Amino acid sequence: MIVEMVTGATKEQVDHVVDKARALGFGIQLNQGTDKTVVAILGSHTGKTSTDIFAVLPGVESVSRIMKSYKLASLEFNPKPTKIKLSGIVIGGKRLAIMAGPCAVESESQLMETAKAVQKLGATVVRGGAFKPRTSPFAFQGLKEEGVKLLAKVKTDLGIPVISEVTDIRDIELLAKNVDILQVGTRNMQNFTLLKELSKLRKPILLKRGLAATVTEWLTAADYLLAEGNKNVILCERGIRTFEDSIRFSMDISSIAVIKRFSHLPIIVDPSHAAGHYAYVPSIAKAAIAAGADGLLIEVHPNPEEALVDGLQSLNLPNFEKLMNELRPIAEAVGRSI
Ligand code: PEP
Ligand code: MN
Repeated sequence: MIVEMVTGATKEQVDHVVDKARALGFGIQLNQGTDKTVVAILGSHTGKTSTDIFAVLPGVESVSRIMKSYKLASLEFNPKPTKIKLSGIVIGGKRLAIMAGPCAVESESQLMETAKAVQKLGATVVRGGAFKPRTSPFAFQGLKEEGVKLLAKVKTDLGIPVISEVTDIRDIELLAKNVDILQVGTRNMQNFTLLKELSKLRKPILLKRGLAATVTEWLTAADYLLAEGNKNVILCERGIRTFEDSIRFSMDISSIAVIKRFSHLPIIVDPSHAAGHYAYVPSIAKAAIAAGADGLLIEVHPNPEEALVDGLQSLNLPNFEKLMNELRPIAEAVGRSI
């Protein structure tokens, strides 16, 4: 921890900081410039100590941490990239994970038709929301248990893994029994009660970035999932809220590079929820793969005009096929395959 004193701080004020640090068992290093004094507070347990303890003392201008707030998700903690194995696929390996399917499970025929088509076109996981977190309580909330059963049917009939969102700790058991990957949506990235329960599972969890979360907050939330020993965490960038309103959310492509630099966790990108419109999905998807993402989560619907949720951003089957064909050479160029 670095404590920067105000210009002209008195000797008593500096001594107060030093005495406090020593009383807490920390070592200190004093750097006395001509105008300013900086106190470095050293010790393995600084991470567990609030910076406020020093920030409130008289004569202190600011306190900052040297260490990152996340630990388990960091590359320092686990220098080898995490590869997640499930039902014959590896997430974080050479082959990209392409998760595709409807925003929401609407009916058996809609889900089956989409699942069969995307599987044939090269998708490795089928997506489908059964519990939908909707902005309005009057909007379609998902088929719930019925939707989960249909996803389980896709898994057994087609032999392809499925992913679905969990919004409530009361649904964890049902989802964990029936789907391969549990998704934590953007609105729940910091639902710590939910994250703590999911950490007890050994199933893969896909953690979406909060729509107004920094990368540090996102990785620190991932620490909650890793804290009880679940090592199977996948990050998903889905765009963040910015001042730009020509698109639903701004895709933060740079977060892929930042995650790869500081974390061992695989990262996939959801171009659909960032785009909000099918026209923008292919560009964002291709940029994500070129930038080094480990896969994509894409909304696909056989009849987007009839979709109950997110029809405008869903790719129809010909558009999904076209995108898969365009992604192949890009994947190859960056040493990956589809
Ligand atoms: C979804 O993938 O179904 C979803 C609701 O996405 P997000 O949490 O990113 O809005
Ligand atoms: Mn959606």
